[in-house]
Amino acid sequence: MNIHEHQGKALLKTFGLPVSAGYPAFTPAEAEQAAGALPGPLYVVKSQIHAGGRGKGKFKELPAAAKGGVRLAKSVEEVRAFAEEMLGRTLVTAQTGPAGKQVNRLYIEDGSDIDKEFYLSMLVDRGTSRIAFVISTEGGMDIEKVAHDTPEKIVSFSIDPATGYMPHHGRAIARALGLTGDLAKQAEALGRNLYTAFVATDMALLEINPLIVTKQQRLNLLDAKISFDSNALFRQQSILALRDESQEDPKEIEASKHDLAYIALDGSIGCMVNGAGLAMATLDIIQLYGEAPANFLDVGGGASEEKVTAAFRIIAADPKVKGILVNIFGGIMKCDVIARGVVAAMKTVNLQVPLVVRLEGTNVEDGKTIIRDSGLNVIPADDLDDAAQKIVNAVRS
Ligand code: ADP
Ligand code: MG
Repeated sequence: MNIHEHQGKALLKTFGLPVSAGYPAFTPAEAEQAAGALPGPLYVVKSQIHAGGRGKGKFKELPAAAKGGVRLAKSVEEVRAFAEEMLGRTLVTAQTGPAGKQVNRLYIEDGSDIDKEFYLSMLVDRGTSRIAFVISTEGGMDIEKVAHDTPEKIVSFSIDPATGYMPHHGRAIARALGLTGDLAKQAEALGRNLYTAFVATDMALLEINPLIVTKQQRLNLLDAKISFDSNALFRQQSILALRDESQEDPKEIEASKHDLAYIALDGSIGCMVNGAGLAMATLDIIQLYGEAPANFLDVGGGASEEKVTAAFRIIAADPKVKGILVNIFGGIMKCDVIARGVVAAMKTVNLQVPLVVRLEGTNVEDGKTIIRDSGLNVIPADDLDDAAQKIVNAVRS
């Protein structure tokens, strides 16, 4: 689950981390009020969307020459004018995809005097099963480009969970950023507090780009992008309360209500599969035959008929879907349960696109009989290869 920058900064502040003063604003009047409560003379008006690259982003509804999603303002009046221009508009950045994301709230922040911009992120490194720090002196720009062009400028190390954050980790951060004296001390404390916050709130990813040194020689987190481990949200109620559904795909929200592992993709073939491994294989084989999947969906091992029906409805309601492939290997999940779910859902959704069903495993004959006897227009398939070819041919003809 992702949260907004202003929420992330408020959270990090409670862990003793240095962030600028600022207030969220949902209307131009609130933006003006927020700016009035800040010292000035420099204010920053920041679009709050669940994506990065806002500074260089473009508003869909504004001329291409218009300013981006993060703007420096020199007066309270200018803050208000920017807010009027930005709120309700759609911001397209390198991370949003061409559809962009709607800006429903802004963060009005005190402007910093920037001396240096660094990069710092933390993530759960699955290779080492540890939390890793990734640090670079090349902040404020595309870290992907830095990693590609000058990988030696990126320093990375991980924390042994048995010892936790040690003083030498702090020294490693300071060294990587070329900081000495008091700034090195600030870096040590910053790393420690970030590590504590990361563990305590079950973060999956935290990216500070840029981490700055101000002209007053203070470290400050100027941006904060945080994702939390969805599997841990049951024990992070205060984090869960920060969820902003307006930033999420409505299909994914609906799927999460039914406890379905669903991720929307860009292709045209809707997939209903049980088991994440089989779902991945299904996506691969669709690509192999030259089409692209519209979604990843794992209905899980022990899905009920209701869950299958819900899953089918979500896929069928997606206008991008030109055909559906149901691929089930019945183990714990029985083929007849899936078949009943598909038939029940088909009766309520008036499906206009071809449907290929491949069933294998427990109660497969019962499942096939239910589909055959339903009188529905289903293309049966015998194995994964056959199923993929059939749905690809069906959407093309
Ligand atoms: P994004 O990464 O989504 O573009 P950032 O929060 O990193 O958004 O802002 C983009 C740039 O705007 C930063 O790299 C920084 O140069 C500038 N900026 C952001 N916040 C402030 C601030 N409070 N004071 C001064 N400059 C800022
Ligand atoms: Mg940034």
